Amino acid sequence: MASKYVYFFGGGKADGKAEMKNLLGGKGANIAEMTNLGIPVPPGFTITTEVCTYFYEHGRQYPPELEGQVEEALRKLEEMMGRKFGDVEKPLLVSVRSGAASSMPGMMDTVLNLGLNDRTVEGLAKETQDERFAYDCYRRFVAMYGDVVLGLKPVEKDDVDPFDELIEKMREKRGVEFDNQLSVADLKELVQQYKNLIREKLSTEFPQDPMAQLWGSIGAVFGSWNNPRAIAYRELNDIPADMGTAVNVQCMVFGNMGDDSGTGVGFTRNPATGENVFYGEYLINAQGEDVVAGIRTPQPINKIQKSDPNTLSLEETMPEIYQELDEIRRKLDRHYRDMQDIEFTIQKGKLWMLQTRSGKRTGFASFKIAVDMVREGILSKEEALMRVEPDQLNQLLRPIFDPRAKQEALKSGSFLAKGLNAGPGAATGRIVFNAPDATEWVKRGERVILVRLETSPEDIRGMHASQGILTARGGMTSHAALVGRQMGKVCVVGCNDLEISYRDRLMRVNGRVVKEGDWISIDGTTGEVFAGEIPTEPSEVLRVLLDKTLGPEDSQVYQDYMALLSWADECRRLGIWTNADQPNQAETAIAFGAEGIGLTRTEHMFFEGDRIDAVREMILAADLEGREKALAKLLPMQKEDFKGIFRVMNGRPVTIRTLDPPLHEFLPHGRQELQKLATQMGVSVDRVEAKMQGLHEANPMLGHRGCRLGIVYPEITSMQARAIMEAACEVTQEGIPVHPEIMIPLVGHVAELKNQRKVVEQAAREAMDHYGVTVDYRVGTMIEVPRGAVTADEIAREADFFSFGTNDLTQTVYGISRDDAGKFLPAYIEMRIWEHDPFDRLDQVGVGTLMEIGVKKGRATKPNLKIGICGEHGGEPSSVEFCHRIGLDYVSCSPYRVPIARLAAARAAIREKQAKG
Ligand code: ADP
Ligand code: MG
Ligand code: MG
Repeated sequence: MASKYVYFFGGGKADGKAEMKNLLGGKGANIAEMTNLGIPVPPGFTITTEVCTYFYEHGRQYPPELEGQVEEALRKLEEMMGRKFGDVEKPLLVSVRSGAASSMPGMMDTVLNLGLNDRTVEGLAKETQDERFAYDCYRRFVAMYGDVVLGLKPVEKDDVDPFDELIEKMREKRGVEFDNQLSVADLKELVQQYKNLIREKLSTEFPQDPMAQLWGSIGAVFGSWNNPRAIAYRELNDIPADMGTAVNVQCMVFGNMGDDSGTGVGFTRNPATGENVFYGEYLINAQGEDVVAGIRTPQPINKIQKSDPNTLSLEETMPEIYQELDEIRRKLDRHYRDMQDIEFTIQKGKLWMLQTRSGKRTGFASFKIAVDMVREGILSKEEALMRVEPDQLNQLLRPIFDPRAKQEALKSGSFLAKGLNAGPGAATGRIVFNAPDATEWVKRGERVILVRLETSPEDIRGMHASQGILTARGGMTSHAALVGRQMGKVCVVGCNDLEISYRDRLMRVNGRVVKEGDWISIDGTTGEVFAGEIPTEPSEVLRVLLDKTLGPEDSQVYQDYMALLSWADECRRLGIWTNADQPNQAETAIAFGAEGIGLTRTEHMFFEGDRIDAVREMILAADLEGREKALAKLLPMQKEDFKGIFRVMNGRPVTIRTLDPPLHEFLPHGRQELQKLATQMGVSVDRVEAKMQGLHEANPMLGHRGCRLGIVYPEITSMQARAIMEAACEVTQEGIPVHPEIMIPLVGHVAELKNQRKVVEQAAREAMDHYGVTVDYRVGTMIEVPRGAVTADEIAREADFFSFGTNDLTQTVYGISRDDAGKFLPAYIEMRIWEHDPFDRLDQVGVGTLMEIGVKKGRATKPNLKIGICGEHGGEPSSVEFCHRIGLDYVSCSPYRVPIARLAAARAAIREKQAKG
């Protein structure tokens, strides 16, 4: 049997359904689903993603069956509509729309009004008795065809769209503000100008044959799968490149047929806050992209959303249509069990749905919707947990402007303008006016706010790099708003008061001039824009949890956060610990839900106050006696630190690593410091210098560091163990339980651990005898060099626990130094030699395999060996999931990533359960 490449939908019946996203693309599958649900959708057909795959595998050829199947579907469509493609009297017009399996907003282009030519346009004019309308469609079609299919679009970053330029000139010449104020004659002239432009620039004619138009457009959609912006989007969003897009050919409905027509977009819930209210925008007498492209500022869909009493909502202008639409939004929201992003068009008082898909939302909305849907009985707790991406949590924890500073800014007149609050949070940075600049400036360490008339898919890299995004045009559903929301960027759109000049790199705002490089601050929660830099302060969640400046009952955000994370805790198996060096960090982590400390880096305390002097003295001492003298100074300081941490942790395990970095990291820089140190130690500068030279290493990362220090200088380990154990004894005496876990770094051979363990045990015994207290302590090791992992069975004999130090393990497994990787790593990622930065996301295949070996061998010796991870990966969601799979007991990450890890751990457990059952 021949393959089916074309799926029809229309007349209440569709060949496809929602589950067929991989084959029909998201758009096609959902159009089919809506059709089957009895929702009014203009009929048409979908060409499958298999054709796209075939297209690229066969040198851009189509499967031979395709042409016949398309023609057959077209005939069926003609019959259903009682119109004919290319017919002079009743022309059938269609749109050609792309649609991949995962929604890629704005990535691939749509052609509307296809089927128009010099003759059918006349027919359409006659039939509708509306010449203006017919030529408005025609000029749009020629421009879209020129842009999407023939590729006539801006090249340089400061260029304007050539078709836009012509229509702008026309508006100027006629002295009108909007396109819909142009006359029939103007539109006719524009069509001519557009066609001339195509001829001049491309030496080709705009095709008059509708079939040629159709195949041209289909080819362009398939071709656009591999355009640079689609590739960039896929890279940023981890969408595989080999899935392909589908093509939808759909009968046109017209929102530009007068004042009883219009077009709009909406969300079944508020995508910024997550509130369960219908949210959207529409434009009267407009077509397709007009709402999102920011040509006119759209009107709100309902009364609740109105901020300007002079605009009319759809609820007021077309109450019956609004009712029908509101019913459809409820139906879709329930049917898909998720917030939907919908597109609709009203043609002469009749409503048509054109698209539905799961909508992009802020982290705030994501949380609220997931939690609300559990309360509404739509989702189970587990489903809700799978709906919130752990990284989205960042947004709930993100700063807002310090209210006092903002008040000041308002008073001092630095308020510039107000736009729409598309992406919540506060951001401040220097202005850049195009995306490539944003990327460049950020590379050299600047913080930037990207300011554009509107953004387009070409801008996504620059948007990604920016602190925030500010646009002059477009509504809450504009490109900037959608993409910004998804990236979790602070975003203000539709700020009409900005007059931006790309060429002069400045903008005028209410009589003021703001230039490239100037500081601005934008508030994505209120839409306000300020000149200058406004300091920020913690989010609501942090204010409840940490600062205690907000009561839990006063923060809905906090309540949703708590609800979801408590469900996460019910589901997860992994323990979530934290990396903390100081009591206040530990406190933060506990507020975020940490259950222990997986890594305290003792040396981080060495830079506090004048401790560094004692540290330097120890390093540069000529002999054991000198070292012990210096260590004696350090002991009480370290002890105090540990006591602080033990008190805060109140019985939770605290893992403390003995000295790890190469000693030269602590050495003085420059003549003056050297002089001071020499005086302090009572030796000559030359002596100190000579000693420093002796410490020089060619490759410190692989040099005298980790346990190698403690083995050569056992007095260091001994002092640290004493400080830990004395602190533990004293805190125990205060009535606070203490569980120290002393961790030896960089062990690759069991003998190393055995050696250090002995030193630790001796010091521990002495401390406990001295205080007459018994402390439940453990001695374990980091697994962070390959030999450690492959001999884990031997090492486990001496270890009470393991902790994977995946930063060093990644360095040593790959044989690269993280400090030097900057020279080639970006190129590797760009060339896709590596999919991801292995220091950011755990390399499960390479490094992960060694971890699995370590777990297996370690537990072969000690079945109950406790194993965790304390590298940066411990807070990265995909790595957390891996740690769950290989059976670790806990992950340890920086305090602010603790909530992310809790959620990721829960999702790992749920996914495992789903896979089993
Ligand atoms: P995107 O994937 O960028 O959203 P779409 O295929 O949804 O692109 O189309 C772009 C715009 O054109 C949307 O506003 C859509 O509603 C409108 N549109 C697409 N097809 C039709 C049609 N057959 N009739 C009327 N409007 C259409
Ligand atoms: Mg769309
Ligand atoms: Mg290490």
